[in-house]
Amino acid sequence: MENLLVPTKVFMGNDVIHNNSAEFKMGKKAFIVTGKSSGEKSGALRDVCDALSRQGISYFIYDKVNNNPSIEEVYEGGIKAREENADFLIGIGGGSPLDAAKAISVYAKNPVDGNFELYDIFKDNYKNEPLPMIAVPTTAGTGSETTPYSILTLHREKTKKSFASESVFYKKAFLDGKYNLNIPLFVARNTYVDALCHLIEGYTNKKATPDTDKVAEEGLKVMGKYKDNMLKGSFLRDECTELLYGSMLAGCVIAHTGTTIVHSMGYPLTYYKEIPHGRANGLLLYEYMKRACAVKGEKIDKVLRFLGFSELSDVASYLKAILPGDEKISIDEVEEWTKTTIQAKNVLSCPFDVDYDGEVDMFKICLEL
Ligand code: NAP
Ligand code: ZN
Repeated sequence: MENLLVPTKVFMGNDVIHNNSAEFKMGKKAFIVTGKSSGEKSGALRDVCDALSRQGISYFIYDKVNNNPSIEEVYEGGIKAREENADFLIGIGGGSPLDAAKAISVYAKNPVDGNFELYDIFKDNYKNEPLPMIAVPTTAGTGSETTPYSILTLHREKTKKSFASESVFYKKAFLDGKYNLNIPLFVARNTYVDALCHLIEGYTNKKATPDTDKVAEEGLKVMGKYKDNMLKGSFLRDECTELLYGSMLAGCVIAHTGTTIVHSMGYPLTYYKEIPHGRANGLLLYEYMKRACAVKGEKIDKVLRFLGFSELSDVASYLKAILPGDEKISIDEVEEWTKTTIQAKNVLSCPFDVDYDGEVDMFKICLEL
């Protein structure tokens, strides 16, 4: 990957889809990938369909994506996109539909046959270029619209696993706060915390560079402005657009740095306990920051300043306030999970050293076991 490469053309502001409908001319037939309700509830699906109709482009709506999509379901989507003779894909929704669209774009052009196995999607060596894609995010959190990653649930391995390929960067993304204006508050909070994790894990990452740091600092300042809104649960459309901007910047950061142990430890919480992705990361974030502070104290100080916290311990009380809940997890479970998660690639990008015992210890502290 280049020093700073995010090849996504980002359109942002009120009515971006309506005002730029000509940008949807990416083929004769669009395959729209969305969740069971998010496309409709957000109003984004209607706007996209209007834009396509105005441009004379036909479309098929595939609104079957589940949260944390599985490899089997995205493969089904790929078959359907091929049957529909789609020339391009439009992902609408939170990270689940946006990630699903990336995988569907690969399978649509690369059917499973003697030469390509279902799990070869993780090898980034596709014979045929995936279908081009447009993203319309309806949550401000994952930044999937500007990352080369797609995170899939693998029941075979009882975990979530990401694949990375420059070929699945979205070509275009449309950010308009009206699409996440009426999001349920717990989703807004979980996704906000996910974006904070991307920024903080990216900023303190071993792979951080002066360029990624500049982007992370801008993202932290933007997200910091909305800390109190998250507590109160009130937002205006422009504020939601800015949150989408911050989350998109966070995507640009992790597109280069990747994440750290927070994300790898979060996956079993989602897989085994159905804890949403952002919340899972949020449970681990404070302890991560404490440990990162020992080796990257200056950066953690800056994070606190950009986000508007006076002290590190304020982060703990803030996260407790916006992520209320009560998980039932045992020490045996975290010991079992750690055997796998400690081997994840992103553990190596962690700014502090951590081994099996260290990770189990982190789990125990974060989950109060
Ligand atoms: P999500 O799983 O996409 O959505 C969570 C819930 O919110 C769903 O029930 C969804 O409804 C609903 N929803 C979404 N937008 C809505 C709206 N505007 N109004 C009302 N309801 C709405 O959540 P997410 O946190 O955005 O995405 C999490 C996924 O992204 C995970 O699989 C995670 O691993 C992945 N992720 C990817 C990256 C990356 O770089 N690619 C980075 C971080 C996380 P529907 O079910 O109807 O859609
Ligand atoms: Zn994340």
